[in-house]
Amino acid sequence: MNRTRYSVVVPVYNEEECIEETSRRLLEVMDATGEPFELIFVNDGSRDRSAELIRGLCAADKRIKLIDFSRNFGHQIAVTAGLQHASGQAVVLIDADLQDPPEVILQMIDKWKQGYDVVYGKRIQRHGETLFKKASALFFYRLLHSMTNVNIPLDTGDFRLMDRKVCDALNGLKEQNRFIRGLVSWVGFKQTPVEYERQERFAGTTKYPLRKMVKFALDGITSFSYKPLRLASYLGFTVSAASFLYLLIVLYQKLFTTTTLPGWSSIVAVNLLFNGIVLIILGIIGEYIGRIYDESKNRPLYILNDKVGFGYEDNGTDSQD
Ligand code: UDP
Ligand code: MG
Repeated sequence: MNRTRYSVVVPVYNEEECIEETSRRLLEVMDATGEPFELIFVNDGSRDRSAELIRGLCAADKRIKLIDFSRNFGHQIAVTAGLQHASGQAVVLIDADLQDPPEVILQMIDKWKQGYDVVYGKRIQRHGETLFKKASALFFYRLLHSMTNVNIPLDTGDFRLMDRKVCDALNGLKEQNRFIRGLVSWVGFKQTPVEYERQERFAGTTKYPLRKMVKFALDGITSFSYKPLRLASYLGFTVSAASFLYLLIVLYQKLFTTTTLPGWSSIVAVNLLFNGIVLIILGIIGEYIGRIYDESKNRPLYILNDKVGFGYEDNGTDSQD
C-alpha cells in the first residue's frame, strides 16, 4: 500500500539558479510535518543545467524524484504530469522560483486536516513583479470571472494543496489545453483559501513571456466560456439594427430633402472597420476550432525522456496515464 502522505510537485523550466535552494527550503518545510513525503520535480525541457542538478538531488535523497520531458511542453502540462505521478494522500503544487513561500504549505496542511479538499493560495500582495504583469493579471482574473459560470477564485495561481480524490478527479480529465486552476474549481469539492504575499523570484527571470501569457489566458477563457462566440451574434444584431436605422435616414434624405452626402472616404472607413470586426470574430472562432482540432488528434499530453526515483527507470516514451 502507498504510504506517502504528501507529494510536492514542482514544474521546472530553466531554473538552475533556483533548484537547490528550492529543494532545501521544501525539504526543511516538509520535514517539519514529520510525515513521509516525496518531492517531484518535473523538468519541462530545460536547456540549462536544471535536469542535471535535479538528478544530483535524487541521488542524494530518495524522496526526491524527477520526471524529465523530451522538450518544453509548458507549465500546465508539467504540473499535469506531476499530478499523474504523485502518490501522496495530499498533493501540493508549487513553482520552482520560491515566489510562493514553502512555509505556507504547513498552513495548507492544517486546513486539509480540518477537512478541506482544496486549499489554494490567494495572493494578497505581489512583490517584485512588473506593473504590466500585475495589471494584466488583475484584468485577466476579473475578465475570466465575468465570463464563466465556474467560480474560479480571483488572484489565485496554481500554488495549492489538493486531496487525493481531487487529484484523481483531475487525472480523469483528458483535455489537451489545460487551465488547471479552472479545472480544480470545476471538479468541485470543499475548497478554501490561504492568504499569502507573493515574493520576488529567488533568482532568474520569469519563464512566462507575453506569448505564453496570451496562450494561457486564451486557454482559460476558451476552456470555461462560450461567451466570446456569442459576441459574434450580439455584434451582428447590433450592427444590423444600426444599419437598418441608417437606411431609413438615408431614404428620408433622398425622398424629402435635397441633402446628398459625399461618401468615398466614409465608405472606405466603415468597410475597413467592419472587415476588422469580422476578422476578429473569425480569429475567436479559430481559437475554439484549433482547440477542437487538438482534442481530435488525441495525442499524449507529453513525451518523457526519463523518470528517476519512481521505483523503476524508464527511457522510453510515455503517455499521459
Ligand atoms: N515553467 C515551466 N514551463 C514553462 C514555463 C514555466 O515548467 O514553459 C515553470 C517555471 O520553472 C516555474 C513555474 O512554471 O517553476 C512558473 O513560472 P514563472 O515563475 O516563470 O512564472 P511567473 O511566476 O513569472 O508567472
Ligand atoms: Mg514565478
